[in-house]
Amino acid sequence: EADAVSPLLHNLNPEQRAAVTLPNEHALILAGAGSGKTRVLTTRIAWLLSTGQVSPGGVLAVTFTNKAAREMMTRLQAMLPLNVRGMWIGTFHGLCNRFLRAHYKLANLPQGFQILDTQDQLSAIKRLMKQFNIDDERFPAKQTQWFIAGCKEDGLRPNMVEVHGEDDRKKVEIYQLYEEQCQREGVVDFGELMLRSYELLQGNDPIRDHYQRRFRHILIDEFQDTNKLQYAWIKMFAQPRDGSPGAQPNSVFAVGDDDQSIYAFRGARVGNMADFVREFQVAHQIKLERNYRSYSNILDSANELISHNRNRLGKNLRTDQGAGEPVRVYEAPTDLAEAQWIVEEIRHLVRGDGPEGGFDRKEIAILYRSNAQSRVIETGLFNAAVPYRVYGGLRFFERAEIKHALAYLRVLENPSDDTSFLRIVNFPPRGIGTRSIEQLQDAARAAGCSLHDAVSATTGKAGANLTAFVAKIDVLRERTIDLTLREIIELVLQESGLVEHYKAEREGADRVENLQELVNAAESFVSQEGFGRDAVALPVDELSPGMLRQSPASQGLDPSQPEINEPAPDYVPPDAETGETLSPLAAFLTHAALESGDNQAEAGQDAIQLMTVHSAKGLEFDCVFISGLEEGLFPHENSLSDPAGLEEERRLMYVAITRARKRLYLSHSQTRLLHGQTRYNVRSRFFDELPEGALKWLTPKHQTFGGSAFGYGAGYPTTRGGSYGGGFQRESIASPPVPAQKAAPSHGLKQGMKVFHTKFGEGTVLSIEGQGDDARAQINFPRHGIKWLALAVAKLTPVP
Ligand code: ATP
Ligand code: MG
Repeated sequence: EADAVSPLLHNLNPEQRAAVTLPNEHALILAGAGSGKTRVLTTRIAWLLSTGQVSPGGVLAVTFTNKAAREMMTRLQAMLPLNVRGMWIGTFHGLCNRFLRAHYKLANLPQGFQILDTQDQLSAIKRLMKQFNIDDERFPAKQTQWFIAGCKEDGLRPNMVEVHGEDDRKKVEIYQLYEEQCQREGVVDFGELMLRSYELLQGNDPIRDHYQRRFRHILIDEFQDTNKLQYAWIKMFAQPRDGSPGAQPNSVFAVGDDDQSIYAFRGARVGNMADFVREFQVAHQIKLERNYRSYSNILDSANELISHNRNRLGKNLRTDQGAGEPVRVYEAPTDLAEAQWIVEEIRHLVRGDGPEGGFDRKEIAILYRSNAQSRVIETGLFNAAVPYRVYGGLRFFERAEIKHALAYLRVLENPSDDTSFLRIVNFPPRGIGTRSIEQLQDAARAAGCSLHDAVSATTGKAGANLTAFVAKIDVLRERTIDLTLREIIELVLQESGLVEHYKAEREGADRVENLQELVNAAESFVSQEGFGRDAVALPVDELSPGMLRQSPASQGLDPSQPEINEPAPDYVPPDAETGETLSPLAAFLTHAALESGDNQAEAGQDAIQLMTVHSAKGLEFDCVFISGLEEGLFPHENSLSDPAGLEEERRLMYVAITRARKRLYLSHSQTRLLHGQTRYNVRSRFFDELPEGALKWLTPKHQTFGGSAFGYGAGYPTTRGGSYGGGFQRESIASPPVPAQKAAPSHGLKQGMKVFHTKFGEGTVLSIEGQGDDARAQINFPRHGIKWLALAVAKLTPVP
């Protein structure tokens, strides 16, 4: 057995190995950047599985981003011959979504509930405030949004919020109205995903017991950035260790770094680490002190910088890698010049002119504090024809044209989705004015129905236009009935008029291309997520022979509780009773809301990586540029007056520096055009907090920067046009072409066949997708409408 296990532990140092092989007891791994925390966490899962201590279904692993979750699955897959697709590895939001899909009835949600992203949420709030005539100067929608999100993060429903004064009362009232609106429309925001899963676990003993028994090992990466509700959610899964007979305690394994806590502004609580140790009586705390990522000039810079923070738990970090190259510092006269210098430097690095040259493009990252900084760098890269990708920022699924297309799709799926209805009712323009829309909203409110349903009550010319719009949507819905997801999207892009609309726009070519990319995104969703031909889902507990040495009971599946609908390994589990499942379209829309498009940056050719420091967390690159190191920008101006804020900025800088393996560049510019204004900048204080011996100044180091000595005025543009010659370069997703899946024979069903279902009665098969355990059929039941059923679950008998 030792032989079978040891390869996993080979590439670990003694402390890492100790962490990986800890017994099933609560543990906290507290360690600095690049010390192998994520590697330890992943290896621990592999080790637990391969030694038979847990089955894949008994692991719950939480990561911070979708990208991190995918990476973890890929690494696990490489270590073990096992299907990881069904494992509960994901982000908090992703896992909560999955949980709520499995228990939608208990959570009081429609099966096909849709997710509002931050933008949707804001427009839903604006709409509501307008409807109820709430003064948006006194209660700005953005602030209301933060208020609601904050309440949810603290686990507070409207009736639980403490009210001090009139303004508070009003805000809570808006929160209440917003909740009612979401419930009516069958949508949930990100905070709601968390809060509702938490409440379900808290209020339902059988469900909670079930999951506590099921998840033997709960592992969390980036624990320092959990908020109050996320921590409370994790607690729900931990079995009380009260020594009661038959209790089989499970364990929480948390890894984190207090110096990398960078989400306080979103409610993250570093204090969760101390609370965890206390409340869970954590038996094991392990520190990892060796950094495997960076050369010591880079690591020393990070260590020295962070030592200026007072509020730290205190850790050491060393490397055996040697000094490496010095950290290069560059001062530019303007932000344009800074961008040009970066581009020039990158061209050398990629060509390999220098002694250390020949970097892969994807191993070069350009980091910045704020999204707005990326434009000028993008322009530089674009003009130099250097391929690049932007993470974060305006992500694929957040772009206006994509949101419009998704809104059409959402209205097809759910006619009462008023947010989506409003987005498209007059887009592309079809002569429906603001006034008509307001009248429609009044009518809907009076009748207590959706906008879609209120249209029939409208009159006059406006009424005719609205009626035509709704008729068009309803006809489209009919036409999509037996189409594949790809065909549905193509149909909608054409029939909605979106493609035509953007084609006619002067700079719409990009947008048309993005819309086309939506089809690609759907294709790769179908092939990855198990609706298509690749969807040969292995049962979640399937392991290679010899690995599975467990009875179902020891896997935490309690046979005595059959009433609980155990989530299938599928992305979206079907209803256990009827086999009813989400349509591929509904599943794709969920995916679009959750994924926020990092797919787009994932696939494809070798390209320079652009992102904010926040989104670089957990990642590493051979070469890193940190740009815009100026007072007011980084550290950000909002933090300058507040010591706690400044410490958070310093942690952010620490995260940025520690992303680099071999080479690090720091740059700043004397002037910068930001939000339409030229700013004269002072070099960031962080330069003074770095070890001089590790730095190399490529430009002369000025003491401080006086306002008079600008010798570069000529040629600096005072305004920057809105157009960048087509914007930034974007590559399409390089997903393999997937042939349209047409009704392949499956489970003995064929298109056109008549079948009988115990609950829905007699129906006709319209189409079939997927194969094996993933096969699902679309069936028209005259008395219950059209349903998607999972064939592995639904009990169907052919009617002769
Ligand atoms: P961060 O705090 O940035 O999230 P981390 O602590 O999670 O960092 P990892 O990303 O797990 O660190 O590891 C950093 C790098 O060091 C990775 O490339 C990893 O493969 C490598 N590494 C970790 N441990 C070892 C080891 N024992 N031997 C060789 N390489 C290692
Ligand atoms: Mg990590």
